Amino acid sequence: MAAAAITRRSFLTGREARSTTIAPPGVRGGWLAACTGCGACVEACPTSIIGLVEARPALDFSTGECLFCGECASVCPEPVFDPVAARTFCHVVAISDACLTHSGVACMTCRDACPEAAIVFRPRIGGPFVPELKASACTGCGACIAPCPAGAIAVSQPTGEAVHA
Ligand code: SF4
Ligand code: SF4
Ligand code: SF4
Repeated sequence: MAAAAITRRSFLTGREARSTTIAPPGVRGGWLAACTGCGACVEACPTSIIGLVEARPALDFSTGECLFCGECASVCPEPVFDPVAARTFCHVVAISDACLTHSGVACMTCRDACPEAAIVFRPRIGGPFVPELKASACTGCGACIAPCPAGAIAVSQPTGEAVHA
């Protein structure tokens, strides 16, 4: 079943269901119930990727990435962030057929943007190399999403189902 994509507009207005939003790293299932919507994490995020959706923090990778700096957890006055768990996400990314290489255009922007070398390019006969994700190396930081000129990269569930445009 396809999940609803979150547009920039709906992110800002909070019109999509919260079930499709992405919480900051270190927030575990159910822990957002302790959030009061104070917005401290929004102000603290150095890459400005946290917004409030239905008074809960939600990440938007369309303009920046997560640095795993932990500032959101540090400033939060409520028991929303797990203090012992690693600051990680449970998602990776997926690269769709909208990638320019499938249209015969050579592009390696995502590879260059990835700090984990998680995107490699597979040679093929008769066309430009095509990107492949090494899911085991992807942290879900989102650094590859905004630079992609084709908008071909989205956050995905471990199943590969895109949940965030
Ligand atoms: S860990 Fe840092 S960069 Fe990532 S969402 Fe929190 S404040 Fe923003
Ligand atoms: S940046 Fe986008 S268009 Fe370019 S290779 Fe990567 S997925 Fe394809
Ligand atoms: S989400 Fe981050 S780690 Fe994963 S492929 Fe994109 S840039 Fe690399």
